[in-house]
Amino acid sequence: MQLVFRALLTALLCALALAFVPISIASAPPQDTPSVYVVQAGDTLFSIALRYNTTVLALKQLNKLGTSDLITVGQKLSVSSTASPATPANSVSASSSYTIQSGDTLYGIAMRYGTTMEAIKNLNGIVNPNLISVGQAIAVPNSISVTKPGLIVDPPVVRQGGTLMIQVARPNLASVNGTFNGKPINFTRATGFWYALVGISRCAKLGAVPLAVTATDDAGKPSNDTTSVTIASTAYLVDAITLPPSKVTILQDTALINREAAQLATIVNKYSPTRLWSGAFRQPLYGTISEFFGTRRSYNGGPVGACGHEGTDFAMPGGTPIYAPARGRVVFAGLTQVRGNMIVIDHGVGVFSAYYHLSAIDTQAGQMVDPGMLIGKVGTTGLSTGNHLHWSMWANGEYVDPMEWTRRIVP
Ligand SMILES: [Zn+2]
Repeated sequence: MQLVFRALLTALLCALALAFVPISIASAPPQDTPSVYVVQAGDTLFSIALRYNTTVLALKQLNKLGTSDLITVGQKLSVSSTASPATPANSVSASSSYTIQSGDTLYGIAMRYGTTMEAIKNLNGIVNPNLISVGQAIAVPNSISVTKPGLIVDPPVVRQGGTLMIQVARPNLASVNGTFNGKPINFTRATGFWYALVGISRCAKLGAVPLAVTATDDAGKPSNDTTSVTIASTAYLVDAITLPPSKVTILQDTALINREAAQLATIVNKYSPTRLWSGAFRQPLYGTISEFFGTRRSYNGGPVGACGHEGTDFAMPGGTPIYAPARGRVVFAGLTQVRGNMIVIDHGVGVFSAYYHLSAIDTQAGQMVDPGMLIGKVGTTGLSTGNHLHWSMWANGEYVDPMEWTRRIVP
């Protein structure tokens, strides 16, 4: 369910959260780098890497985080004082060395080693892939994400609520289309490859899911690939929520709830082929997360819902400014019954974000917004019992965890 009810619950959660936040030992600047950093509320691997002059990849390897981007408040992370952006190759053990030969391209090397051009660029700090020279030594990362030559699935094991990136990297392609678990997916052309972003439902069935891709070259010759992607579980929390009778009445108005959900689905299932944003998403505001994406809910002692919270909630005072997290076009800005004052932003290529329960809307449909631009203010309009921002995101029409988008850069 998408509905948001807290009040006492939010206060209680906040109190609990505060009680367990450890004292920071790491607000010092990078010159005075400690060897251990304790994760604070609002931190991401990306923000920590920036602060310590290192990379997300180096942090992950140092702390054996595997492919997960998840960190939790209070978690201790080793932060190497030797980490430096000048020596990224040294911080990566799982790589091979390669000396560039005449006729090589980064794209060709990536294909040969089963990795991506983007991964080689990042590992070696190469800004322009066309500026490589014969005899230059580069590090090539060992790949885990290529399922077949030219077909890249990242990550190869995706969690419920995560976003899957599928890349098709073959020369001279005129079009690419495909299906994931039988549902059509849209591909967009980028420099050197085509890609699709696929949201994985927070209550998706676990296990192997079929992916089928058809790539057609300039001569009209199609080639078909099928593979499977593994969906792994996300450990979601469960909230027991007590509702006053008046809210139960609205909650039981399934016709209203379904109607509004269908209207929203119509908006976020559109596909604008032009991608508008670049880099990681910012948070629309920085504050205490009062309910995480995917948290399962039990209302008034009832059964726990199979599908959890549709977004990330921030408990903040009414009137707190909300900023666009990335470039996009506002496609809805208005009052709804369940979600209150709502803004929906189309970021392109099937990626949307939305903001619920606002006290004020400071943008309008049709407007282009840039990261950091004021779009509205926190409120408690619609089916809400206290001031908070609910932030949702979608990829390919499916709700995904917005916080993952603040940690991940789509090439
Ligand atoms: Zn919410």
